Amino acid sequence: MARPDFPRSIVDFQDRFPDDDACLEYLAASRWPEGFRCPDCGGERAWVLDRRHLWECAECHLQTSVTAGTVMHGTRTSLRLWFWAAYLVATHTPGISAVQLQRQLGISRYETAWLILQKLRRAMVAPERRPLRGEVEVDETLVGGYHEGRRGGRQRDGTKTLVGVIVEVRGEGSGRLRLKVLADAGQRTLTPWVKASVEPGAIVHTDAWKGYGKLGGAGFDHRPRPQRRDHPDAQKLLPRAHRAASNLKTWLQGTHRGVSPEHLQVYLDEFVFRHNRRGTPMAAFQALLGLGAQHEPATYRQIVRQGRSAA
Ligand SMILES: [Zn+2]
Repeated sequence: MARPDFPRSIVDFQDRFPDDDACLEYLAASRWPEGFRCPDCGGERAWVLDRRHLWECAECHLQTSVTAGTVMHGTRTSLRLWFWAAYLVATHTPGISAVQLQRQLGISRYETAWLILQKLRRAMVAPERRPLRGEVEVDETLVGGYHEGRRGGRQRDGTKTLVGVIVEVRGEGSGRLRLKVLADAGQRTLTPWVKASVEPGAIVHTDAWKGYGKLGGAGFDHRPRPQRRDHPDAQKLLPRAHRAASNLKTWLQGTHRGVSPEHLQVYLDEFVFRHNRRGTPMAAFQALLGLGAQHEPATYRQIVRQGRSAA
């Protein structure tokens, strides 16, 4: 059985996942693209137990949960609702708020929608992120001054947060992106941040800010542009970084009505996740549900072991 493909439209999606059983089958097909295989004895036959999403090996009776390692594990919310939430979050280009999710899925309690969204957002920080490479633009920008009310209201609170922006240069366009809340714009903050985000030897474009002064000695081909950052043409220096920062601010204010500083990094991660997967909705959908993690042996074997008496 091939790894399942991705529905191309909402109608497709509705046909594909009409109920929880269809979602379970998809989870099983994602977990066992070649058909069931017991993680313990290698057996290829299994019974599906009605409750708790369990597959039981016909040989050794080991029970494996198809939701193990996914955001849905242990949930009381229906799988179908999770699938819809992940689909909307993955395909809604500007992103989706808890209020929108609640309305679109007809979830009665705001808190439920909010929790689902928070869990999906957690998946947006990939555990292993390959460093950016080749040629990058690095800059910082000030974000915020708004505070997100519990139900999407907006309050001005005057605090701005410094956010670091690194984006790969891909011809005329942009490659992968990184965003990080920074404590300050000093060398002791900027140098380790760039080192943690960019492969050694990369060409690094910055403005002439002295905070970037140690990048050349840190193993990069540093090419600062000797122009003041308050110059009218300053934006042309690092066009990809400026475009990313501008899109980020529009997105934060439009979709999330601003975000308080302590939650900002989570939203930065969501923006980066969307940016870096903008052409691959299936990868986004599977990553949100936690299905991508099943390729990783370390997180794969979260198996529910229960005695034969449970069978
Ligand atoms: Zn077995």
